Amino acid sequence: MYSELTGNADVAAVLRRMAAGGRMPHSMIFAGPDGAGKKHFAIEAARALVCRNPGNGESCGNCTACRRAGVFDLPESDKAEDFDNVFLSHHPDVGLIFSPKRQIRVGAIRALETEANFRPSEAGSRVFIIDEADKMNQEAANALLKTLEEPPPTTFLILVSARPDALLQTIRSRCQMIRFAPVSAADIRNLLVEKYGRSEEDAELAARMSGGSVSSAIGFDVENFREERAVCQDILKASVRPDGLHKMLETAERLADSKAKDRFENSLRILLSLIRDAVAIRAGADSTQISNFDIIDDLSAIAASLSATVLADRIWAIDDLLKSQDVNINRKVALDGLFVKMAFSV
Ligand SMILES: [Zn+2]
Repeated sequence: MYSELTGNADVAAVLRRMAAGGRMPHSMIFAGPDGAGKKHFAIEAARALVCRNPGNGESCGNCTACRRAGVFDLPESDKAEDFDNVFLSHHPDVGLIFSPKRQIRVGAIRALETEANFRPSEAGSRVFIIDEADKMNQEAANALLKTLEEPPPTTFLILVSARPDALLQTIRSRCQMIRFAPVSAADIRNLLVEKYGRSEEDAELAARMSGGSVSSAIGFDVENFREERAVCQDILKASVRPDGLHKMLETAERLADSKAKDRFENSLRILLSLIRDAVAIRAGADSTQISNFDIIDDLSAIAASLSATVLADRIWAIDDLLKSQDVNINRKVALDGLFVKMAFSV
């Protein structure tokens, strides 16, 4: 049932209404940022279509059809050809196409074409979900177009994508676009407290740092984050002290360790979030309006000792450094450069 999902209540209302009125579009794109719950909603929409006792446009959540519809046995292979397939759930009328590889290949869409033309085995409809549909290569996208042009009357297709603009215009124009918003921090916090047993403060921090993505909030390691953040706080504090550069360069040595590119990037992002919060505090934000609300006293002190221009310069410099990560830069040299700049622009 949609009520068991987090966020996007207005999308749930639209899907319920369309299903209740028997007006569910045969081809839809569930579009929106990562972690907004698009795939969970797609499975729920499929359940509503195959459920034995649906009511008000949604599944009962309890019948044997509902219980089997969302369960998939997916291969743990990393061979591309193992994903040239439609993976049927334990309910044979709900299928999934996905690939952990860079592309969804035409083999998967051909398999879909075949499955889409079969009559439903148990239910009145068959539903196929294409996860990360923007990963279809040209050949796969062209093959899908044929299915979209003449959809079998009992078949429903749901394309899930965080980058709908990367889909062919001809595919987009044949599908009803359903837009998902990032999930609100309050919704994510409640989920983490109620379903995952997190403390209020940890849940709030994970919710605010995860940018509206339920999955990254669930996987957010608060303890590790606090440790990494303490290092970044020390950098900021050192940067306003006349003798702080030495300490900053020592820290740079550790952060730029060639084996830990992820850690390096993560530290830069944390540093960025701290400076953005300092900017917000300068502009009058209180603890309800910043990400790192639990260290607002520290951040207020930093905000008070740096001008808005200096803070803005630092944001630019860190942003530039994050972008240059795509190119193969020497991280130690780049970080030294950033810290020297920070130490001398106070
Ligand atoms: Zn049911």
